[in-house]
Amino acid sequence: MSLDTLSPDEIRALHDEQQAAYEQLKQAGLALDITRGKPSSAQLDLSNALLDLPGQDYKDAAGTDTRNYGGVVGNVQLREIFAELLHVPVEQLVTGDNASLAIMHDLIVFAMLKGTVGSQQPWAQEEEVVFLCPSPGYDRHFAICEQYGITMRTIDMLDDGPDMAAVREAVTDPAVKGIWIVPTYANPTGAVVSEAVAAELAALETAAPDFRIFWDNAYAVHHLTEERTKTADIVGLCAASGHPDRPFVLASTSKITFAGAGVSFFASSPENIAWYTGLVGKRTIGPDKVNQLRHVRLLGDVDGVHALMDQHREILAPKFAVVQEVLSARLGGLDVATWTDPRGGYFVSLDVPDGCATRVVRLAKEAGIALTPAGASFPYGKDPRDRNIRIAPSFPPIEELRTAMEGLATCVLLAATEQRLG
Ligand code: PMP
Repeated sequence: MSLDTLSPDEIRALHDEQQAAYEQLKQAGLALDITRGKPSSAQLDLSNALLDLPGQDYKDAAGTDTRNYGGVVGNVQLREIFAELLHVPVEQLVTGDNASLAIMHDLIVFAMLKGTVGSQQPWAQEEEVVFLCPSPGYDRHFAICEQYGITMRTIDMLDDGPDMAAVREAVTDPAVKGIWIVPTYANPTGAVVSEAVAAELAALETAAPDFRIFWDNAYAVHHLTEERTKTADIVGLCAASGHPDRPFVLASTSKITFAGAGVSFFASSPENIAWYTGLVGKRTIGPDKVNQLRHVRLLGDVDGVHALMDQHREILAPKFAVVQEVLSARLGGLDVATWTDPRGGYFVSLDVPDGCATRVVRLAKEAGIALTPAGASFPYGKDPRDRNIRIAPSFPPIEELRTAMEGLATCVLLAATEQRLG
């Protein structure tokens, strides 16, 4: 029963039914929130042992007193664990404080003020700096660009990564200095960059000599199924293609341990690591090594990380299943929406009819269901088709999530039938 096959009277009947459901929804006085990809309390509880670590034994394996200054590259045992998980040489990986976003921010600011390895001048002295933004994408990447006056060019995000035809064309412009990529379980579509796309990104001939791939692997080990998808080895691919300094790899334990009190990682070529540590060494005498040590003690090794992630999966997978269940039951077959069914990560990306996303988000808000603002997943907050909505199922308890999804489905049907009726 596609909306296209319904008569005007049938669409009117469906609309009226949804209108009645919507009025009921408003009466319910809901206060639900599926806006941001925050871990739930149950997930945070999995790492509560951190609260008692490292205890009185605050020296790391090398005998360093973690309570004191120093060690800008971070704890070596922690770097060893994540070097294996991120498939990079340990010498090319540093570990920092609680937010990979802060490293991304620093990388942009350093590039703007000082230039990167291979830059002819600081980026801020260029007439224009442009970043390619596969979209829908992560709003905070775009916010950093906006903050520092970097022009954003929207590229379609496809199932296997950015639209490479558009990327190939764009990088012939020397103003194009970078691209944002979330290679595994992208925010918000869940797409995974294929080996072929990664290899092409690594090998691209770019007009800018200092083109950078911001390879934000925030969801590297965040699988929702038993399959542990392996991220393409962008550092190795870039080196093999003669562009060793091209990738900036980021990751963190924000969604492994504590989202506000985890540890972050940066990997790149040896030259880029020297460039970064030289600059960051002016900003800090060293990272929070106590936090790094307690992460080593909690996680132990690579298997420890996987075991913890399996526990996260047990909590998260049923929530993602509820999202699929409600969307299929309520919207399936009507041709009013399409949505992703990710195999990992934190989000589901929902596309409603063009021109309806803002209306759906407003309807939901008036019924007490908070959604990420329409357009948030696009540069400058503007979805050219006004159709994309990001769903973040992780935080609410499962029954609240179900109620929110039912409400959202009602809002989608109401907006879509309203639009048809003009
Ligand atoms: N990158 C992506 C793609 C994310 O979705 C998030 C969290 N929403 C982050 C980075 C933030 O990472 P961190 O907590 O390490 O700053």
